[in-house]
Amino acid sequence: MPDSKSRILLISFNAAGHDSLALGYIKAFALKDTTVSRRTQIEILSFSNEEGDVRQALYYITEYKPHLLGLSCYCWSMEKILELARSVKQIMPDVPIVVGGPEVGPVADQYLEKNQALDVGVHDEGEAVFLDLIKYYFARKGRLEDITGISFRRGQEVVRNQDRPPIKDLDEIPSPYLTGVLIPRDGVTYLQSFRGCPFRCGFCYEGGRHKGLRFFSYERVKAEVELVMGNPGIRSFHFVDSVFNLNPKHLRKITSILRDANRYDTRLRTIEVFTEQVDEETVNYLVQAGVQSVETGPQTAIPETQKRIGRYFDPEKFARGVRLMQEAGIEVWCDLIVGLPGDNFFRCVASVAYAMGLKPSRIVMSILHVLPGTSLFQEPGRFGLAFDRNPPHYVVGNDTFPFEQIYEAVLFSSSATMEYNAALPLKKSG
Ligand code: SF4
Repeated sequence: MPDSKSRILLISFNAAGHDSLALGYIKAFALKDTTVSRRTQIEILSFSNEEGDVRQALYYITEYKPHLLGLSCYCWSMEKILELARSVKQIMPDVPIVVGGPEVGPVADQYLEKNQALDVGVHDEGEAVFLDLIKYYFARKGRLEDITGISFRRGQEVVRNQDRPPIKDLDEIPSPYLTGVLIPRDGVTYLQSFRGCPFRCGFCYEGGRHKGLRFFSYERVKAEVELVMGNPGIRSFHFVDSVFNLNPKHLRKITSILRDANRYDTRLRTIEVFTEQVDEETVNYLVQAGVQSVETGPQTAIPETQKRIGRYFDPEKFARGVRLMQEAGIEVWCDLIVGLPGDNFFRCVASVAYAMGLKPSRIVMSILHVLPGTSLFQEPGRFGLAFDRNPPHYVVGNDTFPFEQIYEAVLFSSSATMEYNAALPLKKSG
């Protein structure tokens, strides 16, 4: 490696004010390598996706003059990322540009084929792969051909290497918070106790990923929780676990960690729960854990649609779970998706009516994005699914839901839920 430090810049576009936990993991893992930590300088830049401007990012890049650029890609930010990559390539043609994240991972080779500015695409989990890339670019160790889990450009062709199995022991990835890579901040701190999801929802990238769950040790989670909750400036934070009430044993353990560390009445906000599994005991744990709000389905209230997209749904158990949490003072946010195969305009109306009947604190309505890596993306023919192949991959129609109906359903659902959410203070005081 050269004597002076090599500079690496990692960039993401997130919701305003939010850091990227994924890039935090990548930096923390890379710095665990003593040679890399001695000889490289790694910076993370997080821009607001709503307000962040590509030219603003470009300005920082030209100021920082990185030797390697890593871009984190989601469906909502991909257009900006590609525009940024094209501009960087013109200004700094020798700087390798590596892209990763859920938008790119499953189709990394296709992204490289269509976008000459991208040099390497990471297929899946980025920590170990990115460390190998740092060694390759700065220490000239190994060959790109031998780095599993990437697609890369070789002359005119794009080569897709074999996938890399995920890191088995998650504790091998140092905590971005405990190492000081990310600084906990009020309302925008995200913790994670496991990776993976036991469910296989057809529209979700997480559901189409690895089989099996991998856990961080409870000691590690405890240390992170104590750091966050021991800070009087932090009044609320989040867990990004796919299902917070994964099973009774895990919930019990996480609850005891949270309860024991809570000295300032810090609240846990908007965790995801599997509502059909919520009973009195679960609610008791959620309250002890300091949970203030949860986000949950049902996505649609139509059982036939739920079956098509591979979700378990029991309307009565779901309603009971919502009621139990509300009675305990926990805010419940309900999510609905317009455009799912199996639904149609009237079924969307029925889903909105079902969700409103639960009296959630908020209804979050979105249009179906058919994301790379999901089973809907991989098998579109099954449901006559038509969607935009370019991000953000909006659905255009399916065998039960033609486009004109989707359009009407979006108009109806968005105005109905907007009205409902706006009337929230009325409902609370009433
Ligand atoms: S939507 Fe939630 S429960 Fe379903 S696969 Fe994704 S993370 Fe798991």
